[in-house]
Amino acid sequence: MKIYNTMSRKKEQFKPMNDQRVKLFVCGPTVYDDAHIGHGRTYISFDMIKRYLEYKGYSVFYLQNVTDIDDKIINRSAEVDADPEVLARKFEKRYQEDMEALGVNGVNLFARATDHVPEIISQIETLIEKGFAYETSTGVYFDEAKFENFGKLSRRNLEDLNVHRVNIDQTKKNPGDFALWKKRDEEPLWDSPWGTGRPGWHIEDTAITEEYFGPQYDIHGGGLDLIFPHHEAEIAQMEAASGKSPMVRYWMHTGFLNVSGEKMSKSLGNFITIRDLLEDHDPQVFRFFVLSTHYRSPIDFSEKTLDQAAKSLKRIQKTVEKLNELLDSSAGNDDDYFSGLLKDYRIKFLESMDNDFNTPEALAHIFNFVKELNKAFEDKTPSEKVLKDIISFFNEFGEIMGFDLAVKSNDGDISGELLDIIKDVRQKLREKKEWALSDDIRGRLNDLGIDVED
Ligand code: AMP
Repeated sequence: MKIYNTMSRKKEQFKPMNDQRVKLFVCGPTVYDDAHIGHGRTYISFDMIKRYLEYKGYSVFYLQNVTDIDDKIINRSAEVDADPEVLARKFEKRYQEDMEALGVNGVNLFARATDHVPEIISQIETLIEKGFAYETSTGVYFDEAKFENFGKLSRRNLEDLNVHRVNIDQTKKNPGDFALWKKRDEEPLWDSPWGTGRPGWHIEDTAITEEYFGPQYDIHGGGLDLIFPHHEAEIAQMEAASGKSPMVRYWMHTGFLNVSGEKMSKSLGNFITIRDLLEDHDPQVFRFFVLSTHYRSPIDFSEKTLDQAAKSLKRIQKTVEKLNELLDSSAGNDDDYFSGLLKDYRIKFLESMDNDFNTPEALAHIFNFVKELNKAFEDKTPSEKVLKDIISFFNEFGEIMGFDLAVKSNDGDISGELLDIIKDVRQKLREKKEWALSDDIRGRLNDLGIDVED
């Protein structure tokens, strides 16, 4: 199995530190507002990654931090006149509900920054003792110049880091030195050897990962925007404190989600929360949409691409339904043909997934498989055993991607009756020689995997 490592900018053979156990850490949300569909993109991708690693037989421990101390939280609480802790808990709960709704349920432990202040303080003390951090009147700072390899992940050098900075704290040695502890005397604050205050953002993650994983672990993930400065700072802190390198074997970063070609932002009015999305869209369809693009590529959200995802998913679900029907009704004896097809597509699917989780390619194989199966069913049927093998492959596929494929279209819903109405209307159009419109309806039904024969 190969994974693209942002550190080497190459796909590397995957080899965890401890044989079959994988320690995975992904930067969690800053809980000051509802999660948006960009968060959905990143966390669905890592959910699929965990699912696939487990499918391959690894035992994965997935750790995520929750940033519940941050200027954004403090500013938002002041705006809405709420207690920062109450506000953070509210949005943490809503974040978890949103993830649950998207079928993102693989995180084994959520670790809040506020529950790890002693670990944060202890890591800062180590950095000071080892000469990598210094105290000033405003806080404790990491001394970038002391860490030889600063910039190795983002491939930037110290000169790059020190330019373009505004509001530089004059007490710092270098403009790029970042805060480990911010001295403050207003809430929220904690006691520390340097007086009251609160931790900087970067130290929260390394204190948490050191506590649960130790100074070195397998995979660290997050969105592309976090490579610099956040992940760069994490490497400096942890490797300086422990003297061990590398802190992480594989750095994985997701591409950004844009909306109709533009960056998603409140000021552009194109900001979509997961809650907004799920008001009128199926979470499975959003998952399909996300996984139709490689996790490292940017992804463009639009109603059109979501519609396309809905059609594609429906087509696969229909095929699984057809397989179930065949299992109930007729089984044949064209096993050689169907077993061969299943073997070929299973290999192709797994090869794509083994190649840095190439889900768009893997989905394309599933699509071709679906096409070939439907064509073959016109004059061939496999035995019950081979039908079950094919169904179980679709179940594996559904489990890895997080799709529920066992959906029955006439299970308590009215789609069968609605289809009869559409067919009736179409027949009447044909009687009136409205060929263009009736062909259009047939085409659109076809897109949904429904074949209409006159
Ligand atoms: P935040 O809550 O902004 O700290 O982000 C939490 C995670 O979501 C980070 O890994 C971000 O990189 C990721 N993220 C934020 N916005 C987007 C976006 N538009 N597309 C993809 N990932 C995002």
